[in-house]
Order: sequence, then C-alpha cells, then structure tokens
Amino acid sequence: MPDPAQRANKLFIQTFGTKADGLYLAPGRINLMGENAHYNEGFVLSSAINFHTVIAVKRRTDQQFRAVSDAFPGHIQEWRFGKEDTMIPADPKAWVNYLKGFTASMAATGLPATGMDLSIVSNVPLGAGLSSSAALEIAFGTAINDINQLHLSPLAIAQVAQRGENQYAGYHCGIVDQMISAMGQQDHALLIDCFDLDSEAITIPKNLSLFIVNSNVERHELEPQYQLRALQCQQVASHFKLDALSHLTLKKLELAKDELDDIHYRRAKHIVTENRRTQQAAWALEAGNIKKLSQLMAKSHASMKDDFEITVPAINCLVDIIANVVGEQGGVRMASTGFGGCVVALVDHQYTDAVVNAIETQYFSLTQLEASIYLCSASDGAKRLAES
Ligand code: ADP
Ligand code: MG
Repeated sequence: MPDPAQRANKLFIQTFGTKADGLYLAPGRINLMGENAHYNEGFVLSSAINFHTVIAVKRRTDQQFRAVSDAFPGHIQEWRFGKEDTMIPADPKAWVNYLKGFTASMAATGLPATGMDLSIVSNVPLGAGLSSSAALEIAFGTAINDINQLHLSPLAIAQVAQRGENQYAGYHCGIVDQMISAMGQQDHALLIDCFDLDSEAITIPKNLSLFIVNSNVERHELEPQYQLRALQCQQVASHFKLDALSHLTLKKLELAKDELDDIHYRRAKHIVTENRRTQQAAWALEAGNIKKLSQLMAKSHASMKDDFEITVPAINCLVDIIANVVGEQGGVRMASTGFGGCVVALVDHQYTDAVVNAIETQYFSLTQLEASIYLCSASDGAKRLAES
C-alpha cells in the first residue's frame, strides 16, 4: 500500500474515531508538450505521475460531508449535499471549494449522492503546476462515483470536476488536468485533442527517465499574463473568423502576417506551431525517436521563450543546464503555463545521475534558487485501492 494510503487511514481514525471503509487515489500530472492548448482547442501530450492524492472514505447515512486534509491540518470542513452547494463560496480561497464544487456540480446536473466522511493525504506538491487540484477533485469524484454506484465514466467524472472548479472554485481551467488524473495509463502519455476530447495512449520508451524539476520561482505575474495570452489568441482566431487558433494553418498565418501586429503574429505562431509539434512529439515518443523528441521539445521551449514570451530567466537556466548534459539524448522544456513552475525532461537513463548532479551544482549558483527534483514515472489514473 502506498505511503499516502497508510497516512490517510491513520488521519481518518485520528479525526473521526473509527476506521474508513474505502481508499481512493488520483495522480497529479505533467504536460510533456502542448501548454495553453485547451483554450485554443489544440493538442496536449500529458502523463499522470506517480505522485498521488489519497482519500480514505466512510459512507454516511445523511447528506453531510466532513473532510480533513493533512495539507491544512486542524480544521474539519463540513457541508451538505444539495441546493445550498450552488451558492457563492464564503471563502473564495478555501481548499474545500474544490470538493464543494464537485458536489455542487453534481447537484446542478441532477446526480444524487449520499454524505461521506473523508481524510485526504497527498504527496503531490501543492501549487507547483503538477495539478494537485485535479488530483484532489478526481480522487473525491472517483470515491463518490463508486460509493453511490453512479457508473460515471472517467471522462464524465473529469467533466463534473471541471465544471465545479470553473463555477465554484472560480478557476477557469480546461479539462485536460482532470482527464489525465482520471484516465492516465502507466508508462504512457495521453495525446488529448482538446477540440473533441478524443485521446490516444502513447508509449513512453522504457529507456527514458521522466524528470520534473520545480524552479521554485515566485510566480507574481501569472494570472494577468495568462489572461492576456488567452485574449490575444482569441483576437487572432476572430481575425481569421475561427472559433479557436488551433484550426489555423501556419501557411494561412504567414500569408496574413502583414495584417497582424508583431505581438499577435508571434503569439499565434507559437500556438499553431506548438500544436503541430505536440502531435509530432507523440509520434516520435511512440517510435522511440529520442533525437526527434529532443529537437521538438527544444523548439517548444524556444517558442515559449521568444514568441509566446512566458518563460523567465531561472526557467531558461534550468532548461539549459539539463540540455547541456543530455544533448539530443533527451528532451527538456518548461512545463507550465508560464512565469515559473516546473521544467520537464525525458532523458536516457544513462544521464539520470549527471542531470541531478548538474542541477545541484549549477542552478543555485546561477539563480540563488533551490530546485526541487522529482524523478517520476507515468502512472495509471484514479482508482479504488484494494485494501483500506
Ligand atoms: P496545482 O493544481 O498546480 O497544484 P492549484 O493552485 O491549481 O495548483 O491548486 C492548489 C490548491 O488545491 C491548494 O492551494 C488547495 O486549495 C487545493 N489542494 C490541492 N491538493 C490538496 C490537498 N491534498 N488537500 C487540500 N487541498 C488541496
Ligand atoms: Mg490546479
């Protein structure tokens, strides 16, 4: 049984004075390619990772929910399933909004649920861009689905979660994070088409190590800059009378270059080229063509840096440190919506120690920041654990 599972059981007994009768788990995720794809209806290549949120659960006979999380110790959160859940949350920043959002989203679509007591333990770093929020929602949604025998598909659970996060937690996320957490496959990435939510499992070659490195940069500008990029993309799409930018070809963009100002042209160029690179990266990964993957990830990073302008010096530094070690025997790029967050690298096993060593010896002296290094593997999506 994974460590978070044992800790979730223990927290349950400490909090509620009795044993839980079920354990549910959902993973965080990392985007290998295709940041900012969802609002442009493009492709994203993403893996669930072996960092998990585990929820220990006991069914109640009423419609009350009581929840405790080891990330925010000391307070039991309580709410009732039903109409009142659709109200504006009293505290817009409360962690429990992600769960209340889920039940509110269920109630709004007429799905029934009995109450539950739950304890939550996670080893997904919170707020690092590894989607601890989706892991929380999907572990909870998987538990509710199972306990109430609703027979929702993983995609349907992801849709309920996304609606809840949009409408209740107030964060206008796409659905990719929830989909990956619900549908991830061990040793695979999923290539998701954000236009129709179709997905395809892509094998990650066995000789590759999956690194996630948190730059630990303070992200001040993220929200306004993120909104601005989304607006700029929408403006270019409207210029071409399209619903979303991913439906634009590079040829059409180049022919109309003079009709756009330089910033809008470069924003659009990033999205259009990244959409193509993401599909090519999936094919390169599936074929075990590491050289091609390496080139595509390098181009992706350069495009985020120069055209979409969402990287920062510490992130560029981290990418350079890793790229200098692995050359074309691995790929590396920023894996966040920008202005900090994590870098992702897929590198041949033989370089694993050298990558860790290079980051540890160079990153701090160049940036005065400590990196957090996670050596991961691609994990299955959410499930009930066999034993509680
Ligand atoms: P990310 O999803 O990239 O980790 P977010 O800001 O979207 O970052 O989500 C982090 C928030 O999600 C936390 O501040 C908290 O409100 C909630 N959250 C995530 N995991 C947990 C957890 N294990 N327990 C309680 N709240 C959590
Ligand atoms: Mg999140």
